[in-house]
Amino acid sequence: MRALVKSKAAPGGVELRDMPVPQVGEDEVLLELIYGGLCRTDVSFVQWNAAAQATYRPNFPQIIGHEYLGRVVASAPGSGLPVGSRVVGSGHVVCGTCPPCLAGRSMLCQNLKVLGLDIDGVFAERFVVPRRNVAIVPDEVPDVVAALAEPFAVGLHALKRGSVQAGMKVAVIGPGSVGLMTIAALGAEDGVSTTAIGTEADLKQLELASSMGVDEIRVVGRDTNAVAGAFDVVVETAGHESAVSLAVELAAPGGTVVCVGLPADPVQINSGRLAMTEKSLVGARAHDISDWKDVPQMLAKATGLAAIDVKTVGLGELDHAIHLTATRQASKVLLAP
Ligand SMILES: [Zn+2]
Ligand SMILES: [Zn+2]
Repeated sequence: MRALVKSKAAPGGVELRDMPVPQVGEDEVLLELIYGGLCRTDVSFVQWNAAAQATYRPNFPQIIGHEYLGRVVASAPGSGLPVGSRVVGSGHVVCGTCPPCLAGRSMLCQNLKVLGLDIDGVFAERFVVPRRNVAIVPDEVPDVVAALAEPFAVGLHALKRGSVQAGMKVAVIGPGSVGLMTIAALGAEDGVSTTAIGTEADLKQLELASSMGVDEIRVVGRDTNAVAGAFDVVVETAGHESAVSLAVELAAPGGTVVCVGLPADPVQINSGRLAMTEKSLVGARAHDISDWKDVPQMLAKATGLAAIDVKTVGLGELDHAIHLTATRQASKVLLAP
């Protein structure tokens, strides 16, 4: 089978290679790739930057990629995953028995391995994942929408961390791909009012957020002062220091700021003001395995996903895919075998 393989602990070194089809273990399922999603994590892994070197423990040569829409080729009898089913799922291989796993925080698993980063991934004609990782996609969800399931699950998890519920006003700062997925996830929640916030440089993305059905868009500095203290929940996905302080300002007394973005440098917070206003600051990292049971029906409800600007390239066109992502010509690039 053909697979995208990174061969060395140095920048680049990725090529399409012929690899053996993986053996499927007892608790695993063998999938045929329909679409793989390229994520910034994959790009930093390919470029082998300092963050990637510090975070992952690969065994080169290694197949890259962790976001997938697949079709079941083989699974154990009684797994509930008939051959031919379309599935999406987590790229986290977790132990299921350590304290974080048992507490519903499998993204903190003490034995966590991420597909494509620590072990062989999904940018291949065939790949295996643990059976408990995957969920069947409803027939009415098109392939290109289903292929967004992993970043969509990140958005859903962020909303869970913010305890978002009907009647709330929620703002999302940063209309990049994670921000747009969070907006799509909000669209699948009932009775939530949504504001997308970005900078002047984000105008095109903010327009896209509008077409996804947000209630309003606001530009930082131009019309955000008027909504200080107005939101029950603010989800920060931009990953800039200024965006984090803005998020804290925009949250209502008693409100919650969910930090999803990863600022390069430490951020200063006035903890006295947090104390006096009882605001909460929480982190949200990826998703828990249990989040995936909600993903299929939420994908079907998240009509805004159809507006996301997706581009599709071949498995052998990784450089082009990276270029499209880096130059913001697409909010998500999918690789098709
Ligand atoms: Zn990802
Ligand atoms: Zn664990």
